[in-house]
Amino acid sequence: MWLRRDLRLGDLPPLIAAQEAADDVLVCFVVDPRLEKSSGPRRLSFLFDSLRDLDDSLSGRLLVVRGRPEKEIPRLAKAVDATSVHVTEDFSPFGRRRDDAVTEALGDVDLEAEGSPYLVSPGRVTKNDGEPYKVFTPYFNQWREHGWRAPASSSLSTSDTVDPSDITRSGRIKIPAAPVELDHPAGESAATKRWREFVDDDLAGYDSDRDRPDLDASSRMSAYLKFGNIHPRTMAADLGRSKGAKSYLRELAFRDFYAAVLHHWPDSAWHNWNRQFDDIELDTDKDAYRRLDAWKEGRTGFPIVDAGMRQLAESGFMHNRVRMITASFLVKDLHLPWWWGAQWFLEQLTDGDMASNQHGWQWAAGTGTDAAPYFRVFNPETQCKKFDPDGEYVRRWVPEIDTDDYPDPIVDHKAEREEALRRFRQI
Ligand code: FAD
Repeated sequence: MWLRRDLRLGDLPPLIAAQEAADDVLVCFVVDPRLEKSSGPRRLSFLFDSLRDLDDSLSGRLLVVRGRPEKEIPRLAKAVDATSVHVTEDFSPFGRRRDDAVTEALGDVDLEAEGSPYLVSPGRVTKNDGEPYKVFTPYFNQWREHGWRAPASSSLSTSDTVDPSDITRSGRIKIPAAPVELDHPAGESAATKRWREFVDDDLAGYDSDRDRPDLDASSRMSAYLKFGNIHPRTMAADLGRSKGAKSYLRELAFRDFYAAVLHHWPDSAWHNWNRQFDDIELDTDKDAYRRLDAWKEGRTGFPIVDAGMRQLAESGFMHNRVRMITASFLVKDLHLPWWWGAQWFLEQLTDGDMASNQHGWQWAAGTGTDAAPYFRVFNPETQCKKFDPDGEYVRRWVPEIDTDDYPDPIVDHKAEREEALRRFRQI
């Protein structure tokens, strides 16, 4: 059983398949130096802590190695005489390339993929003519109709696990220490606990409160979902039919939608999904980098933007509404490339995810599928009044807000809005 973005033992279909294929299962994880380099310290902390949690659940029998999977997996398969290698299917462009390379290197041993990190796997829901959906609402209707399986009842006892210390030259490494501290604990048991708390305390009010960054009313499940500490199927099974539940399910559908969009258009990870925007005028000079730094550091003089950017830098999380506001600000008020902002988010976010992040950005930039129309420019002040009515969120992250230490706005929103519209009209 080769774990990747499915760091749990419960509701894990490939684990059941592995147990059906052999009496004893070796559970392993390959730390890939390429991902280690691009992951950002918080995602690495979350990964390593999740691995530690799993290793504890397996009484120290999780085998962690470091290297290129196409070398390490065939080597381990040979070492334990594996008849097959079992994984959860990965649909990201990087994951697909990696798995193709591993399949080839494994030769006669099959790489068997089952399940995915989604309720409905990318590619399953298409229009009648087989074309992928570009608009969310019809996708969502079809997605609900498609449905998903009940949670799989998987588990693994230590006695059915291969002990890595019995493998000569296993290449085992100690699970690395977390480079930074996290604001929420990682791992399967923490994910289950957080989910229970949310269902008991906040699900009922989710529909009305989810847009309010001051209320802490969202589930904070995103990092657990990203690393597969829990499967969304397990969560969906607890939802029920309340208004809050319906609204929550819609958000899980957004996660699936963006994964499907990235699956069908892999280039959209770093390029405009709507290529008509390739010609829009962007600022990339020295002054653009100065504005980028002010944005990153939360010194733009726009309170809701600065609060969000500081929450991100200090905690590795930002509320969804504020992600939309700060992203819109970078693109429409500062005229910078959306991928500059997306890169910073990926570096900082614990839940940083190629599909949700890049397409969240393309939504805000107006360049994505079913995106906010480019000409609809968020006004940071109005957004702040509406979604942080008492200014509580802003004061939490920008304590000097009412003092002379707080900077003046770095741009004039009204003028930059006009400038954004001028650039839009040009294309
Ligand atoms: P909840 O409101 O409790 O939502 C429940 C779950 O639904 C989330 O955990 C998430 O898995 C999913 N979800 C909710 N909203 C969205 C959405 N708009 N798109 C996709 N899935 C969604 N989400 C990430 O997981 N990783 C990212 O890197 C990421 N980057 C984003 C960048 C931008 C510019 C924007 C606008 C959104 C981004 N999102 C990202 C989506 C969303 O902001 C987060 O999923 C959410 O804030 C996580 O908090 P929560 O778990 O408390 O959310």
